[in-house]
Amino acid sequence: MQVFGSSGTRGIVNESLSPDFIMKVAKAAGTMWSAERVAIGRDTRKTGLMFANAAASGLASVGVSVDRLGVIPTPGIQAYAERNDIPGIVITASHNPPEYNGVKLIGSDGKELSVNELERVESILLSEQFDNATWDQVGNDTDISNSITAYLDDIKRAVNLQQFKESQLRIAVDPGHGAGLYTSPRLFRELGCEVVTVNAHDDGHFPGRDPEPIAENLAALGDLVKAANADIGIAHDGDADRAIFFDESGEYIEGDATLAALADAKLTEGDITVSAVNVSQRLVNVVDETNASLELTQIGSTRIMNRIQELQKAGNNVPIAGEGNGGVIFPHYRLARDGAYTAVKFIELLTNGQTASEVVNKYDDYHNVRINIHYESENERETLLGLAEETAIKADGEITTIDGYRIDYGDAWILVRPSGTEPVVRIYAESKSKQRAENIASSMAQKLREAIDDA
Ligand code: MG
Repeated sequence: MQVFGSSGTRGIVNESLSPDFIMKVAKAAGTMWSAERVAIGRDTRKTGLMFANAAASGLASVGVSVDRLGVIPTPGIQAYAERNDIPGIVITASHNPPEYNGVKLIGSDGKELSVNELERVESILLSEQFDNATWDQVGNDTDISNSITAYLDDIKRAVNLQQFKESQLRIAVDPGHGAGLYTSPRLFRELGCEVVTVNAHDDGHFPGRDPEPIAENLAALGDLVKAANADIGIAHDGDADRAIFFDESGEYIEGDATLAALADAKLTEGDITVSAVNVSQRLVNVVDETNASLELTQIGSTRIMNRIQELQKAGNNVPIAGEGNGGVIFPHYRLARDGAYTAVKFIELLTNGQTASEVVNKYDDYHNVRINIHYESENERETLLGLAEETAIKADGEITTIDGYRIDYGDAWILVRPSGTEPVVRIYAESKSKQRAENIASSMAQKLREAIDDA
């Protein structure tokens, strides 16, 4: 796929992503779907309305009417698409910085489009074979006001309300000024919890923190958990399809530990789970202990969703899947990442009296290091990846090349791969020994940096 990468199409607004491009994507998707109506929703970015307007114009011009959902988490748009049996266009750059935006396409089943469908959209887009409508056949535009209520009602139906209310939890929520600010605080109040918030006002400048829910962006949430004496902290990315947690003492919980705890609660013998090539040993251990099995894909939710659907078609049970970045999929609920649903499922593990730290304690004995190496040109990118390949071939460990180069040393692993959305090569490392993880990651980083400095 040239246009759609591992997680849709994203870019810096008016540099690598223009409204005319988004209009063409909408025209191409509208042509392929030949649906009467398509939903459009967006996250809180300053440029969201501009791109939503461009997408709406593109759809109208190919004769498709638009349901405008406004600002709503990506999983809320997926729920709306599924409920109304119409496709959807999501204007979001997910966890990327404020200057980015992007587009994701959703089928009328509420799922992200498959790689095959995206390739069809691409071919219409590149050949500009749009179904342009005559003037009296262009689409209409309707504002939809109740889509958030229906989205939250779905989630509430999937939990034990009584148990939630009785547990009387105090929850700190950091939606990071993203779309989750309209949903998660309200959801947990409606579930009978006491809610305190930080970064919970709508501001496309993201003044409180960057949209990516990683530890270094979330100090304020840790402080809030402590100050408010909360039982748990929840952070979302810009479009709230991911959830990351803090325990009751204000400590960041690795997304890999959360995923392992959730998988342990869901998986039984014979099940399959799907994760990406940067999978943590924590999940591998859970899979081994439950006699389930694990399939790995390239990094990115689109690849994981595709694999889940293939496995389901072949008759396999896939009750949980996802990545350690807080993007968890519960395919029996919906084939989508959903930050609020993930949070509800994680908090359910606390409603039997265990604290958050007790829940993850068993899965928290690994250390993860992630380093980004920025590159300036295609040449530098190739130099970095060439060197990573060379190192992997020479290494005394098991090599996996599903996506980038992963080396498993037995007591540690390292992965080097190019980002699908930013000009960086990412290094991931994990070990039970913090020093070992730091050493292999930093020596790889040093090698790579020297290679582009010398070039
Ligand atoms: Mg996201």
